[in-house]
Amino acid sequence: MVGVLALQGNFASHIHILNQIGISSKLVKTLEDLSGINGLIIPGGESTTMSNLLLRDQSFIDGIKSLSIDKPILGTCAGLILMSKNSFDKKVLNMNIIDIEVSRNAYGRQVHSFDDSINLVHKNIKSKSMKASFIRAPKITSMGKNVKIICKHDNEIVGVREGMHIAITCHPELKHETLLHEICFKR
Ligand code: GLN
Repeated sequence: MVGVLALQGNFASHIHILNQIGISSKLVKTLEDLSGINGLIIPGGESTTMSNLLLRDQSFIDGIKSLSIDKPILGTCAGLILMSKNSFDKKVLNMNIIDIEVSRNAYGRQVHSFDDSINLVHKNIKSKSMKASFIRAPKITSMGKNVKIICKHDNEIVGVREGMHIAITCHPELKHETLLHEICFKR
């Protein structure tokens, strides 16, 4: 059972992907909802809004952090921002689940959003192309020594993994790509 943080944003598309790959899911809106899950997805949306909602309950934030000690977390776009160590913005909560620094809205405004192919690099999988939507996406500006690259768009690093956690700046789930969910939750 994988939880999907459902405070704001596009959590529904992740539920759909989990259904597709045969993983049961549950919406997570409160600390109590974290019980019984074996992993968590932090979806895209607006990181400032999600931060405001999370910061209403420090115990919920602590619960997510302690879940991350032994359960995998997958973050897309705003989810990656929340999982990062620093996004250099006081309005945003950084939970420091993956040792990366990020720059928000680094490709420009909503009108500069685009769809493109990204390349997946993983030790167990031959290099593979996936489709993804970049929607006011962040860029990863630095990564710690234990962070591994998992996806690239041209020469830009757009997906990373640290231990069992994965974070990506774009949205493969909006293009019905299931591979990252399978890698993160089906091991
Ligand atoms: N630009 C948004 C933010 O900074 C993220 C956009 C997204 O999740 N697609 O939170």
